[in-house]
Order: sequence, then structure tokens, then C-alpha cells
Amino acid sequence: MIKTTNLKKLYRTEEVETTALNNVNLEIQAGEFVAIMGPSGCGKSTLLNLLGLLDNPTDGQYRFLEHEVSHYSERQRANLRKASIGFVFQSFNLIDELTVYENVELPLLYLGVSERRKRVETLLDQMQILPRKNHFPQQLSGGQQQRVAVARAVIGQPKLILADEPTGNLDSANSAEVMQLLTGLNDTGTTIVMVTHSPSHAEYAHRIVHLFDGHIVSDHLPEAVRV
Ligand code: ADP
Ligand code: MG
Repeated sequence: MIKTTNLKKLYRTEEVETTALNNVNLEIQAGEFVAIMGPSGCGKSTLLNLLGLLDNPTDGQYRFLEHEVSHYSERQRANLRKASIGFVFQSFNLIDELTVYENVELPLLYLGVSERRKRVETLLDQMQILPRKNHFPQQLSGGQQQRVAVARAVIGQPKLILADEPTGNLDSANSAEVMQLLTGLNDTGTTIVMVTHSPSHAEYAHRIVHLFDGHIVSDHLPEAVRV
């Protein structure tokens, strides 16, 4: 599903040039659950942004599904992104002015889906957040907001979920709930790539990729399941 070849990302500002990713070669098959770990600043979010077609690499190739996307325009990337990828962020990134229902409905509007109400309400019910459908994000706890964000990420039935420290702002009970949601999605076939600082959350994954200074330094099974 994902294959990067010598993927490179430089950020240039007036004073400095930062090599955020340097020759990253990563292959991920459909159905995998991969955790990305590594110290702050090592390039985890940059990698997720490139994999998620939010940004273009400076150099190298990226094949996503059957598309060679490294030279795609912003519009081409947006079209592929909205049809295939759902995002979950540490800070939830819900739209404060929209209700829970409207936040989750939004991807379906972008996809031009006309029969939305039943689909949104069924998912909100599964996520145990239906009674809050007319509330605004600020009226919810962090755990509830992240459940809404996961619902928004999956409503369009994306093939790939990218989660950047999805439990970073949650207490342990809410974190466990989000990890169970992600595990359940992976069990039904959704590919998941998740950045995390938590070794215990990384153990939910089938594979852990460690980054350091823009490079992959290891790529293996989590300790808990290694034979
Ligand atoms: P991580 O998510 O692992 O903490 P990032 O991918 O956010 O790391 O950042 C990798 C490196 O790139 C860091 O040195 C960071 O300061 C730099 N960086 C990230 N985004 C930008 C940007 N938009 N402009 C300039 N430098 C950036
Ligand atoms: Mg980051």
C-alpha cells in the first residue's frame, strides 16, 4: 500500500535548513498496524505528513496504492487523500464551530455522499457518542473529543488511518479506549500508522519503526509479541 524510496524532506527558513527526513525507505502492506517511535524532532510528524499526502517530499519516491505521488499537485493529493486517508491528531483538531454530528458528517460532504444521516448516527452510536451529537467540541471531555475525531477519520471508510500521537493528550483510561478503537479498525482491515511516545501503546501494533535524526534505525516486531 505504501512504498517510499530514499524519501527526503528539507525545511528551509531564512536562517536554517533542516533535514527532517533523509533517505527513508519504508514499505507497508495493506492491513498492517505500524507504530512509529523516536525522540522529539526526529521526523515522525514529517513522515506522517508525507505518507498522508499533506506535503510533498523534497526528493525520493512515494508510491501510495497504485499511484506514484511524489510529484502530484496539491489538488491531486487532496483528491486521493479525501478518498483514501483518515487522520487523527494529538490535539483532536475538531472544528469548534461545528457540532459533533457536523464534524463527523463533513468528510461525507466533501466526498459528495447524499445519504449521510443514518451513516453518521450509526457510527456515533458505535462510538458511544450519539447522545452528544448536538454538542460542540468544547463541551466534551478530551476522551470524547478524540472519539469524535476517530469517527470523523473513519466515516469515509478510508483504507489508511494515520494517527499522530493520538493518545498524547489523554489520561490512561481514555488512551486505552482510543487504542481499542484503533485495534478494532485494524481488525476489520484498515491499515494504521500511528506515531506514539508510549511503548505500551506501541505494543498494540504489529510492527515498530524507530526513527532517529530523520533515518529509520530499526523496524521490528514489538517486544511483547517477538518470538
Ligand atoms: P517529530 O514529529 O518527530 O517531533 P517533526 O517531523 O515535527 O519531528 O520535525 C522534524 C524536524 O523538522 C525538526 O527539527 C523540526 O524542527 C523540523 N520542522 C518540522 N516542521 C517544520 C517546518 N514546517 N518548518 C521548518 N522546520 C520544521
Ligand atoms: Mg511530531
